[in-house]
Amino acid sequence: MRIDALLARATARLAGAGSPSARLDAEVLAGHVLGVDRTWLYTWGDREFESWPRARFDALVAARADGRPVAYLTGEREFWGLSLETAPSTLIPRPDTETLVETALARASAGEGALLDLGTGTGAIALAFASERPGWRVEGIDLSEPAIALARRNARRHDLAVRFRVSDWFGALDEDERFDLIVANPPYIDAADPHLAQGDVRFEPLSALVASEAGLGDLRRIAEAALVRLPPGGTLLMEHGMSQGPEVRQILVEAGFRDVETRVDLGGRERVTLGLR
Ligand code: GLN
Repeated sequence: MRIDALLARATARLAGAGSPSARLDAEVLAGHVLGVDRTWLYTWGDREFESWPRARFDALVAARADGRPVAYLTGEREFWGLSLETAPSTLIPRPDTETLVETALARASAGEGALLDLGTGTGAIALAFASERPGWRVEGIDLSEPAIALARRNARRHDLAVRFRVSDWFGALDEDERFDLIVANPPYIDAADPHLAQGDVRFEPLSALVASEAGLGDLRRIAEAALVRLPPGGTLLMEHGMSQGPEVRQILVEAGFRDVETRVDLGGRERVTLGLR
């Protein structure tokens, strides 16, 4: 069968199974199996697929039709232009989170400084930041050992000098460790949110998604513990759900932060709230 016909068939199967991105999924999976990019697939669509690893492609399409996230099937996802290894032990990096990186960079001098990424997962935020600020000391912590091992592999993959270690929020840090910027994309979804039963999130670790207090528990815990870890003028930035802006601003103000404000993501939704010590 020709590549274009095979892609059309896989697309129809994935669309029938309810994938919101069937064509893209089929292309990414075919590109992964063949070791080529999507442009190649368009250029060589009239080639026969016979000699290609067809069984492997069919197995990936079947897994995707069962709902498995493409990033777990291919084992990678691009974030901030960096190809990152992904695994079911961590959240899949999302485009929304680039808003957090942009906001952190806007507050980071070109010279030196120190940034801490709480709940780093794949290491996406810490690595994206480090790729733009080579003079900064960048650290990422996560409660999950597999996540830290994954983040370290991602640092090696891009030759970025980020230190990753296991810690329950600030728990494993020395008492005198301070950072100019502290960033976090913590769990912030309410356990009763119906979105948890839909799409890719069904396969992601609940510990990276769900928080107590209708999703605000970890945001509050981080805000309360972060202030003493910042020098005067240092900034805390946290990602949160699109309807949590007012509550998160209140949490930061109550925790003692000043100049508290919220930034919107590319879709115009309140996504990142920051405050200064
Ligand atoms: N933004 C993610 C989602 O809506 C949640 C990420 C998180 O809880 N930190 O699926």
